Amino acid sequence: MAASALTTMKKILIIGSGGREHALVWALQKTSPEPIEIFCAPGNAGIGQSAKLIDIAINDLSRLVDFVEAKKIDLTFVGPEAPLVSGIVDKFTARGLRIVGPTAAAARLEGSKIFAKDFMTRHGIPTATYRVAEGPEQAIECLRSGEFGDAGNAVVIKADGLAAGKGVIVARNRAEAEKAVADLMVHHVAGSEAARRVVIEQALNGQEASLLVFADGRDYVLMPAARDHKRIGENDTGPNTGGMGSITDASVLEQSIQNRVVSEIVEPTLAGARDEGFPFNGVLFLGLMLTEDGPKLLEYNVRFGDPETQAILVRLKSDLLSVFDAIYSQTLGTLNVEWSEGSSASVVAANRGYPGKYESGAIIEGLDEINRDSVQVFHAGTATDASGQVIAMGGRVLGVTAAAESLSSALNRCYEALGRIHWPGMQFRRDIGRRGQS
Ligand code: AMP
Repeated sequence: MAASALTTMKKILIIGSGGREHALVWALQKTSPEPIEIFCAPGNAGIGQSAKLIDIAINDLSRLVDFVEAKKIDLTFVGPEAPLVSGIVDKFTARGLRIVGPTAAAARLEGSKIFAKDFMTRHGIPTATYRVAEGPEQAIECLRSGEFGDAGNAVVIKADGLAAGKGVIVARNRAEAEKAVADLMVHHVAGSEAARRVVIEQALNGQEASLLVFADGRDYVLMPAARDHKRIGENDTGPNTGGMGSITDASVLEQSIQNRVVSEIVEPTLAGARDEGFPFNGVLFLGLMLTEDGPKLLEYNVRFGDPETQAILVRLKSDLLSVFDAIYSQTLGTLNVEWSEGSSASVVAANRGYPGKYESGAIIEGLDEINRDSVQVFHAGTATDASGQVIAMGGRVLGVTAAAESLSSALNRCYEALGRIHWPGMQFRRDIGRRGQS
């Protein structure tokens, strides 16, 4: 009996190595009615406790394809943007392999800020006004022209291409904007090719929110709206990070505003992508600014966000693999995707020094004392040392995540668990989820 069960067990590959991927592996296992076998390339120490780690880098598309063929993987799902922008979905599809995610053509919505802004304009999607600058001289000329206000006005400079979160600079005035142009375009802080061209954009004010949708090219399913906290320091101070925490809560996006986001942004995006010949399959992430003039789209991501995913997936009640299958077979419209009522929170614990140069290598204590019925500890930058102990290796190390009937009780669960976890150099924000901060 056991042997036949094993031979029919579905094999899934998750690509990536962060807290997002750990949450994906956990959610797949938790929601699947049948046992599934999960592989993760390259993964981390936490993922390795429940999935088989495969030592292949996320951008090594040839080896990933070969592995999937040899192992007869039933379905592959990609966490990070870089392989999607490089065309991993096209490559797998050409070899007849099942993969869920956008094609390279659809991934341009994240891979090029200029493509995304022009797409928003073509489809009447509300966004900040902008100009494209082809080089530093044109950028400076545009800033000095006064089109984006006088020298005291805030303005945003964005590198066109993927820049690992370092490509957007919100400048408080023209002097800062000119420095941003020099940093991005002349000194190539963000990576040379990515910042050859930039978008110069009106700075918007308001609360931010993230709305993620599953999309199959025809139909879509909304996930609970999320908000992340980007700054390293409490009270929204210090430099930006990959994200120090996230929440889902009804207050993040009121129903009436969400309805506007759906009709003014989600539906025109999916219809526009279809009309332009690249129907969107996978997870589409909308980074929103809720301004006095209504919701505006700041950016698209063509995949799950990190750490929003952790807070979203702890509320998923339906079978995640069925959702992925439905995206692949374009049957999302027939699926009822259920979420738990209430709220959730995810608090990131990082190594001291992050997002700059950080300490690493300390043993993490207390992980065994966490009650996994109320809190999940998703690993990001962790590894296992020679004696099998989990050590804090990356910048962001853990994402302690909980769902509950209210935001305050979800946060209490996270902070209670964080009180039991310790390593030298551990840092985390104590104000995740407080309104008015990001
Ligand atoms: P993006 O990658 O375009 O979402 O930019 C990253 C972050 O920069 C956003 O989450 C915002 O906090 C900020 N940002 C981007 N565009 C704008 C804008 N037009 N006005 C104000 N802040 C912005």
